[in-house]
Amino acid sequence: MSNDISVLLVEDNLADVALLMELLQDGDSEHWQVTHAKRLSLALEHLCKTKYDVVLLDLSLPDSQGLDTVIQVQATVPYLPIVVLTGLLDKTIARQAVAQGAQDYLVKGQLSSELLLKTVHYAIDRTQILKRLQESEDRFRGVFNQTYQFMGLLSPDGIVLDLNQATREMSGFQDQAIINTPIWEIPCWQTVEISKAWLKTAVLRASQGETMRAELQAHTSQGTLRWFDASIKPLKDEHSNITVLIVEGRDISKLKRAEAEIRQSLAKEQELNQMKNSFISMISHEFRNPISTISFATNLLEDCDLPSEERKSFFELIYTAINEVLHLLDEILLLGRTEAGKIEIDCKTIELESFCREIVEMFQLTTGNSHPILFSVKGRSTWAKVDTSLLKHILDNLLSNAIKYSPKGGTICFTLICKGNQAKFIVKDQGIGIPKADQAKLFEPFHRAANVNSIQGTGLGLAIVKRYVDLQQGQIQVESQEGVGSTFTVTLLQDLSQDLLKPHNPSVAKEQEAFSRNQTLLES
Ligand code: ADP
Repeated sequence: MSNDISVLLVEDNLADVALLMELLQDGDSEHWQVTHAKRLSLALEHLCKTKYDVVLLDLSLPDSQGLDTVIQVQATVPYLPIVVLTGLLDKTIARQAVAQGAQDYLVKGQLSSELLLKTVHYAIDRTQILKRLQESEDRFRGVFNQTYQFMGLLSPDGIVLDLNQATREMSGFQDQAIINTPIWEIPCWQTVEISKAWLKTAVLRASQGETMRAELQAHTSQGTLRWFDASIKPLKDEHSNITVLIVEGRDISKLKRAEAEIRQSLAKEQELNQMKNSFISMISHEFRNPISTISFATNLLEDCDLPSEERKSFFELIYTAINEVLHLLDEILLLGRTEAGKIEIDCKTIELESFCREIVEMFQLTTGNSHPILFSVKGRSTWAKVDTSLLKHILDNLLSNAIKYSPKGGTICFTLICKGNQAKFIVKDQGIGIPKADQAKLFEPFHRAANVNSIQGTGLGLAIVKRYVDLQQGQIQVESQEGVGSTFTVTLLQDLSQDLLKPHNPSVAKEQEAFSRNQTLLES
């Protein structure tokens, strides 16, 4: 069967042209369609118009010399097999032409029909193979670069050979910076030691045939930390040797964020559930006692013959029980109002020492000195701008707890320290103390420590205190040891920024004057 092969013969020497034509015709059964061009410009015109299977190209033409001739032909028709025709003395340039992409060269004067045909056939075959290879490479590159997934190729020992476009864009690295670098040395893992360590192990195991997968964190070119579902898979050749490791990554940061949010809201829901349960059990327990007392006392009071002394004591029992219930209701309502953000701050400039003394005196009156409170003051100016009603509530709660959780006769030290624009209120007792495990949860509503035993309480007081302190941008700290005692410290800003320094503020000036007068009287 005969095949037509179209040849463009670019040669200015007519004797060589005649010889080449003759050698071609002497050859096998192929039917050669030869077009002759004496100059490169003519050859390029032919190439633009007609499709050729091969070009026989002399490098010394009247309008082009040397390598440039090859380059121009290639530029006009890529993937056209070129066989360079050269003289005996021009072998070096012919070899350069082959390096440049020509398929082969033939030395004029050493030609035979057989050699010419073999060279032309090989040139055509090789070019077709190269073209198919290039198409396959283009298809691979297209997929490799167009995918949204991050992909890379590694040598079996983890050296980066190639990275796709998505990876380069995400990491912000240009090829030169990371090609030939071990994957764990790439800067995007530098602050994420766990990811680095995993990559080292994964490369080792993948190079032994395993497929590795994990969730890793890495930095993007913008410096943000993202989560990736990463895998490393070994690729084997026909002899089952691992030639390349394929690294893949999928950005799962959004998924991770959603997961964290779900976990958080689940935890919140659990916490709310727990709070609800504590609330219900606290309510049923705390309300039951006083209500049983009221019921018991009223039953007995139905007996009209009861002596008046006993009637009086039953009425007292009822009043105390009612007060307990009212106190509990007050605390629940207060907590509800603070949680709903309904408490507004109303700050006034006051003198803290006398404010604290009044509270201490009130406590000593109501407790009948069962727990002596030693009050002391440190610091020069005890003026501060505070919300008096919130502060009173805070101190009332800390002092009543100190009393409630201390044995009868236990001394309570209450210290006010005003220093460097800060007012510290320290309440220290020698009571039952708080177990370590309970200390972190002390400010959560309804939390009561394990050692309270039969001491009455709701677990709401400190939760309200904490919110009141927060409202004034203050801080509260606890130091406690079970069986030794507890110290609660509330720190508030004195916030005297301007008021006391302003001479034209008449109300403050008056208060200040009154205070200094009191001080002088006290001292004298
Ligand atoms: P309660 O009404 O139970 O006293 P609080 O919210 O005021 O509620 O206090 C929460 C818990 O903190 C108390 O139940 C108790 O376990 C612990 N607590 C608070 N103050 C003291 C203290 N001074 N000494 C020992 N335990 C304390």
